[in-house]
Amino acid sequence: ADIFIDATGTAGPMPNCITHGTGCAMCVLRCPTFGGRVSVAEKAGVKELAGRKGDQIGAVSGSCKLLKESLSPEITSALEAKGVAVIPIPEAQRVKGKLAMKACQQYSGSAFEENIILLNTGHAKLMSPFYPLDALREIPGFKNARYEDPYAGGRGNSIRYIGMSPRNDALQVEGIDNLYCGGEKAGLLVGHTEAICTGTLAGYNAVRHVTGEKALVLPASLAVGDAITYVRTRMGEEGGLGLKYTFSGSVYFDRMKELGLYSTDVMEIGKKVAAAGLTGVFAEKSKPRPAGN
Ligand SMILES: Cc1cc2nc3c(=O)[nH]c(=O)nc-3n(C[C@H](O)[C@H](O)[C@H](O)COP(=O)(O)OP(=O)(O)OC[C@H]3O[C@@H](n4cnc5c(N)ncnc54)[C@H](O)[C@@H]3O)c2cc1C
Repeated sequence: ADIFIDATGTAGPMPNCITHGTGCAMCVLRCPTFGGRVSVAEKAGVKELAGRKGDQIGAVSGSCKLLKESLSPEITSALEAKGVAVIPIPEAQRVKGKLAMKACQQYSGSAFEENIILLNTGHAKLMSPFYPLDALREIPGFKNARYEDPYAGGRGNSIRYIGMSPRNDALQVEGIDNLYCGGEKAGLLVGHTEAICTGTLAGYNAVRHVTGEKALVLPASLAVGDAITYVRTRMGEEGGLGLKYTFSGSVYFDRMKELGLYSTDVMEIGKKVAAAGLTGVFAEKSKPRPAGN
């Protein structure tokens, strides 16, 4: 039988950015050119979930990129030397209230409202969901600032976390036998690392489904296994759809530390994986179903 993995993300399409945001922010997804996100799960009849906090359905993507060349030489050199630049915003020019709505809770402390925080990612990554261009250009060093992504970052950003699939901890979508999901489709887990972890597991289990082998559920003794189960559980509870979960900060990072799951010691992590009997699990060759089955 065919097997499908839905990794179509949760950002956009344009009607969601118009209804729940400030309109199309002209982000990197380029919906007007390539067409908006199309959820495989929704097409298959799955009733999907949306994040929500207060009146906000979904969440506003949490950062933008400025063209590095459009910033002052002092800011560009600081970024290139240190990878980060923190520029205090004069009190009168602070734009209040935009941080509460952002998708990346770990970057929503007051420091992000009182300062322009830039990271050198090639361009200058602005750790704010948007910043009105007129106000930004008032700040010393930003007189000629230009947005690289989204182009309308002076006004808003893309809306995400609408269209998540209900799923089990093997990442099989509820109600559809031959559909698995990874990345943001698998829930309110924000980030590339998180998408790599869930996408790898979804792909692995999809192959096992085809070969007739039992799906792998990662144990709670590993951060990835705990996160997959925890996020699914929290999304079914009061208030759980209002939070975001990531290995890089905020509520899930606190939980990892509390449970002793947080470590950057590769040897220690390897021992935990070995104790769970999972060393090299993704490198194992699958055992194809015998012909005729
Ligand atoms: C501005 C911004 C900054 C970020 N910064 C960071 C960061 O610094 N670190 C970090 O870890 N995370 C960051 N994130 C979060 C991270 O990018 C996402 O959580 C992650 O990319 C989600 O991966 P995904 O594969 O689920 O979805 P996506 O990355 O959205 O990928 C889904 C893809 O599927 C395509 N697609 C949709 N429908 C279809 C279809 N029917 N057929 C084919 N293709 C389709 C879409 O066009 C898209 O390319 C950032 C996100 C944003 C928006």
